[in-house]
Formats: sequence, structure tokens, C-alpha cells
Amino acid sequence: MTDCSVVSLAQQLVAIPSVNPMGQEVSGPEYLETRVSEFLESLFAQWELPHFRQPVAPGRDNVVAVLPGEPPDGPVVLLEVHQDTVPVVGMTIDPWGAELRNGRLYGRGASDVKGSMAAMLCALRRLQQQALAPRPTVALACTVNEEFGYTGAQQLCRLWQDEPHPLLPQRPEACVVAEPTLLHVVVAHKGAVRWKCVTRGKAAHTCNPDLGRNAIFAMAPVLLALERYHREVLSAREPHPLCGKPTLSVGIIRGGIAVNTVPDRCEIQVDRRLVPGETAEQAVAELVEYLAQQPDIDSQGLEHDHSLFSGEPLVEGPNLPLAEKLLASARSVLPDRQIIGVPYGTDAAVIAASGVPCVVFGPGSIDQAHTEDEWIAVEQLEQGTDALFAFLRDYLAQ
Ligand SMILES: [Zn+2]
Repeated sequence: MTDCSVVSLAQQLVAIPSVNPMGQEVSGPEYLETRVSEFLESLFAQWELPHFRQPVAPGRDNVVAVLPGEPPDGPVVLLEVHQDTVPVVGMTIDPWGAELRNGRLYGRGASDVKGSMAAMLCALRRLQQQALAPRPTVALACTVNEEFGYTGAQQLCRLWQDEPHPLLPQRPEACVVAEPTLLHVVVAHKGAVRWKCVTRGKAAHTCNPDLGRNAIFAMAPVLLALERYHREVLSAREPHPLCGKPTLSVGIIRGGIAVNTVPDRCEIQVDRRLVPGETAEQAVAELVEYLAQQPDIDSQGLEHDHSLFSGEPLVEGPNLPLAEKLLASARSVLPDRQIIGVPYGTDAAVIAASGVPCVVFGPGSIDQAHTEDEWIAVEQLEQGTDALFAFLRDYLAQ
């Protein structure tokens, strides 16, 4: 049948650190995706699967393997999975031990998302070894930097926008993005936009505070207004049928240098979750306008710095036919699987924005992702491989 064991492959991947620095100045052998990329390249070479690297940043390359279809000029199906993991601080298990215990594989990335990577690799290997026809061309893209900015996926999309590669000469007509969905098919998800708000004041000695202007006091009505906006405005919105309501939270506040100095600057960081149908730009503009209408806020003294982060939602419409197709394959393995929406963001929104219908799908649960004892059920790994293989095998069948 196949020489690929999804469990041993997942173990090997978990044992190779590929920690995302998350924008911090850190260094060490556990950081960046380099070693996973090297492992993938040698695996593809051993399998005689055509592949190439696509540089994204120093030490960070997407690795793309392509199994030509039968016929070779048919449609391209893209499988996308990220190589990076979140950091390991605070973990209570050996992050790279890849221990198998009680039907679970433990380690950083087991569910997010090296388990899915192993399942995609094995499904592709099975398709290659069974030499089925007809079948689509399948590109497996192992991308970098999903956890902090989606730059790997952005670079990947250039392959069908302005930087084609001979192995991937056309735009994929469908894409499955790996994340732990318990093998439900995610057709929509929320996006997020994050930005800084800053109030400026004037420093003075607090023995005579009226000589200054207190930037923290100036922020106080802004915070209350933001809380009101979440509680009254956003909560009153009609929920998106799959993703629920938009939300807003303030996650960071900074201001002041000493208790006896009137602070001249206060900063907060705002996180606004977008539901399908909303855009980051509209959401920010609407909130800035809301704050400007509050009589107790000096909107002249309030600055907005929008450069932190923005990731659009995944909108279900264009993805539904693909979702139905993948659902049929998932149900051939687990009959109760569903089409769902989720609150977290993924590479899928980036790829969908380049004109490729996208769904998110993979073994394991998001509840185990980023946790102190991250794990994935071995049974999910095997079921995920079977479902992905069935999807690729049946893709061209009517
Ligand atoms: Zn992930």
C-alpha cells in the first residue's frame, strides 16, 4: 500500500524544533523553520517528488512539493500547512520529546500543526504510490511564519500572481489549509485587526499636577467608550451564522514613568475581531468615528497607529462547493462531521484573497494547540490521513 506511517512521521516532525520568534529578538537552534524545511526536502528527494524552495525571509523558506496529475494539464489542488510552532515557554512536558502515551502523541506542534503535516504528507505519498488516474495535480506547500503575520502564505500566493514556478504553472482551483479542526470542515472564520491608540499629555511634577496634562486620565474615557462599544454596539449585531458576533478587547495598556510624574503618554492596544462580511479598514474607521462622537473624549489628542496587524476573515460563499466535497470524504471516515465556522484566523484568508477557494481542515483539536502539554490523538492522525487521501482520490470523480 504505502511506506508512510503517519504516526512515525508526526513524531519525527514534532522532534524537530521550529519555534516562531513571534517578533522577538531571540536566537538559538530551536528558532525558525530551517530544520523542518531540510527534513521535508530530504523526504521529498527520497520519495522522488519534484519540489522547490521559495525564500520568504533569511532562514525561512516555504517548501513546495508537486505531484503531477493524470492527465498532467488538469486542475491543481493545493494542500497548505505551516512549519512553525508557537514558543515552548511554560510547557510541562518535553516539547520535542514526541512521546506516545495512551493513544496520544505529545509535543509542541503535535496538533498545531505537525500532525496535519504528517497526514497531508502520507495522503500525498499514498496517492503517488497508487498511481491513480484521473487525479488532480497536488501541490503540498509547507509555509513559514503562520503564527506571526502570515508572510509565508502571502509569498506562496505570488506563485500564481507574479512569480510563477515551472513546477506550479497555474493557479490552484482549490486549497485545503491545515489546522486542527477535529476533521470538521471549516468554511468561514473570523479575522482580526489590532492597533495602538495613544494619548499625549505634558509631564510635570505631581506636587503641582495642574502644570501638566495627564495622558492616563485622558485615556480613561477612551477605555470606557471602548468597553461600551463592545458591550452595546458589537453585542447588538446580528451574529454571523457560523462565526458569531464581532468583538473588541483591549489587551495592553502602558503609560507613565514614575508615580510622582504626570504622565505625558499613554498607549493601549486594541484587538477587534472581524466576522465574515466585515473588513479591517471599515471596522477601524467605524470605531474611530464612534470615539470622535463621545463628548468626553478629546479626539484631537487621540492618535491611532494602525500598523500592528490585520488579517481578514474567511468568507464562506466561494468555499462552499469545495467544503461539500471535502465533507463527503471526511464523512466516509467519521460520519458525523460538519461544515463549521471558527473564531480564530488562519492562512486560508490570505490564500482565499488571491482567488483560490479555501477550507481549513485537519486532525486534532484547537483546544490542545498552544497548550502546556500539547497533544494529538493517534486515531485522529490516521483518520485525517484517510480523509485527505479520499478527497484527493475522488477529487476528479463526479
Ligand atoms: Zn496553526
